[in-house]
Amino acid sequence: MIIRNLENSMVFPVDFFNFKGFFKDFYNQKQSRFMNVLVVNCGSSSVKFQLYKMPEELLLIYGKAERNQDGNTDFSFQTKSRNIQNKWDGYSFSENFKKILNELTRPENECLATLEELTIAGHRLIHGGEAIKSQGAVEITDELISYMESCISLAPLHYPANLEGIKTLAQLLPGVLQAGVFDTAFHYSLPPKAFLYGIPLAFYRENGIRRLGFHGTSHKYASLRTYRLTGLNPEKSKIISCHLGNGASVAAIKNGKSVDTSMGMTPVEGLLMGTRSGDIDAGLLGYLQENFDLSSGKIQHILNKEGGLLGLSGVSSDYRAVEEAASNGNENAQTALDVYHYRVKKYIGAYAAAMGGIDALTFTGGIGENSFFARKQICSDLGFLGIRLSEKLNRGKNGKEAVINEKNGKVSILIVPANEELMIAREVADWVKSKV
Ligand code: ADP
Repeated sequence: MIIRNLENSMVFPVDFFNFKGFFKDFYNQKQSRFMNVLVVNCGSSSVKFQLYKMPEELLLIYGKAERNQDGNTDFSFQTKSRNIQNKWDGYSFSENFKKILNELTRPENECLATLEELTIAGHRLIHGGEAIKSQGAVEITDELISYMESCISLAPLHYPANLEGIKTLAQLLPGVLQAGVFDTAFHYSLPPKAFLYGIPLAFYRENGIRRLGFHGTSHKYASLRTYRLTGLNPEKSKIISCHLGNGASVAAIKNGKSVDTSMGMTPVEGLLMGTRSGDIDAGLLGYLQENFDLSSGKIQHILNKEGGLLGLSGVSSDYRAVEEAASNGNENAQTALDVYHYRVKKYIGAYAAAMGGIDALTFTGGIGENSFFARKQICSDLGFLGIRLSEKLNRGKNGKEAVINEKNGKVSILIVPANEELMIAREVADWVKSKV
């Protein structure tokens, strides 16, 4: 097993039998500070960061460096007492990370005295493919990096940025352990009947072609908050979690485990999204290719970038903008919203059937948290399942963590603001503890 030397950044082999001992030393050495977790989410045009003090779950600073339309960097961050906006020329991972690390130790930000106090970076990782079986955090080793490099084609937009973020941080912080949580991790519990596609089994056996699901960290966090807010027993519960953001998915979570989810091998399957089509007749792809002289690349572009709310409404990929257009009489915008809500409703019905019932329905993500209209449309006519949304609570608690069902509704309905970063910080801290 190859792991990174924490003290001088050399890569060295660790004998498996000494592995536990290594972590014990590491834990003892850094006991007073190892709970400072820097969570980073490296996207194609932004780096988002949060620094948590664990296990207190104290958020010390959060912010992002984002490539703007001119190709320069917009930087903003917040601490307990400061809210700072800045910008600079160009956009480079290493420069941006240097500036982020600078802020972590700036005395007026009241985060860290020195970077020595930072011991773990927790990365949001996109696509674990078929090989990564861990349902929690994984250590970022050279082996894992090579594996991720072999998976770039599975998430060509996200993976290069993920990898660049890991490598840059490893160079800048050689003494810091790096770990990450794959977006697919929570869904590794799916049974074969939920993850297999109806194509020759050899594609799965030999090439790992299967449904994997995404937004796992968000669905897991939503389910944990749901147990906490409702008192449901995680071991005996049926939750449907709806993560409705630009990307969107539904997960069926039975007895604490994800048993089905709407995204597949790629994040295109399932719900209608901002620009992604969601479910589509697979036969249509060949038909489009042959009859409209479209390359497979163009078809991928249509499915990923030209479909969804944008494609149907012709207005925008942004739910708010489509909602506004619909309220101003735009019929295509209204149709797009109807399709959007209908798809979510259909998945709720399907997953209630898959689990043999539903105890709680949880909404998260930008739309799920903030649109009382979307929740109302989705929950309408689901009284037969015991889903009864309170009109008053749905409006009054919009955007806040809350239980919003009618008292006589059998199913708890909740809003849970997404917090994938905290979930990653928890997973990473738990992972280190488990190694001691
Ligand atoms: P991402 O998947 O990029 O993280 P978000 O979770 O931030 O996306 O969700 C973005 C979506 O949330 C957009 O479609 C936006 O219009 C929608 N949204 C945000 N606030 C509201 C609101 N108050 N009402 C309706 N939709 C909202």
